[in-house]
Amino acid sequence: MDGADKPGKDRTVCWVGGVPIGFGHPVVVQSMTDTDTVDVAATVAQVRLLADAGSEIVRITVNNAEAARAVTEIRARLDDVSCAVPLVGDFHFIGHRLLREASSCAETLDKYRINPGNVGRGQRRDENFSTFIEIARDLGKPVRIGVNAGSLDPEVLAAAMDENARRSEPLSADEVEVEALVESAERSVDAAMALGLPEPQIVVSCKVSRIGPMLAAYRALHRRLSVPLHLGLTEAGMGLKGITSTTAALSVLLEQGIGDTIRASLTPEVGGDRAREVRLCQEILQALGLRSFRPAVTSCPGCGRTTSTLFRELAEKIEGTLETRLAEWRTRYPGCETLTVAVMGCVVNGPGESRAADIGISLPGSGEDPRAPVYEDGKRVALLSGGSIAQEFLAMVEAYVERRFGGADTR
Ligand code: SF4
Repeated sequence: MDGADKPGKDRTVCWVGGVPIGFGHPVVVQSMTDTDTVDVAATVAQVRLLADAGSEIVRITVNNAEAARAVTEIRARLDDVSCAVPLVGDFHFIGHRLLREASSCAETLDKYRINPGNVGRGQRRDENFSTFIEIARDLGKPVRIGVNAGSLDPEVLAAAMDENARRSEPLSADEVEVEALVESAERSVDAAMALGLPEPQIVVSCKVSRIGPMLAAYRALHRRLSVPLHLGLTEAGMGLKGITSTTAALSVLLEQGIGDTIRASLTPEVGGDRAREVRLCQEILQALGLRSFRPAVTSCPGCGRTTSTLFRELAEKIEGTLETRLAEWRTRYPGCETLTVAVMGCVVNGPGESRAADIGISLPGSGEDPRAPVYEDGKRVALLSGGSIAQEFLAMVEAYVERRFGGADTR
């Protein structure tokens, strides 16, 4: 690699099972199970949960011989229920041995993930890395070279620190770390290609838990490599903090055109929903206008101009209805994911937002005419009033979807 900028048109596409990752293709949503892979039933159930939520690729832990042996059974059971989601094996420390000794695991998985920071040291590292890559090459499997700040190759970091010490104006510790991470990824890509792994079989990630260094690392990788990039803010954390950090980090990069596949590394609450990480990825991509997964509801926050909770209740009902109807709508009304609905609280912004949506309602605020205009495609089509506004509006949404996406609309 010469470190030169690689314009987008030169970027490669990597196929994982039937899913393309890379230039020209939609950003792919990924997730990972947290079950013990040896527990086949639990792992199959969670893979299905994630796939049903929209995860287009699912990664599973392969950390010992039993887990490697379980992979084939997991795949078979998924196939039995027509769950074709590609499976990625997450390997650390002994991946080379597991792939070599469990050939059916190696053949079954759609992609392997290797962390070049934990495959050994010195000559042993090179041998282990070679074994891993050669198996992928011989079986035609793609590999994600996943560098992680928490397990950065200490030899690469030491070399970067030595070089920094010789600089007249040394870089900060974060900058040195970023340089070492990128260097580790780049060297590993070069080494894999030198071993005969074709460039279109390589994806790279460089995960850091702090946003600044994470952004810097991915920007450098985007400039210096042609292979697709898997984005993730590793160890993002729990709850609102995890969601906010992940959204901030991924959005900045995606908006700059950096990133071909994403994962949200949220820590679920005990008993929490693992599929939340999938939903977050979808929401980020949809909010950025990169993909559409479900109809979008625009609703205002409400303020002193609203006299009741009617608009909140209606917004909630609309969200709930869209969610429950989506599975059927997707089949009956292709393209319905792009529907936009507005539910607004008063005349200040209500008519404008409602006109801008496919279908919208502007509820009456404090002291206003107690009637609610409904807009479709920018035109006022009804004035609702009385106690059944919510039901009537929901019926209008249903009729709009049928007309617009059911084939009757010839626009
Ligand atoms: S649209 Fe009306 S009710 Fe909603 S936030 Fe704006 S001013 Fe308040």
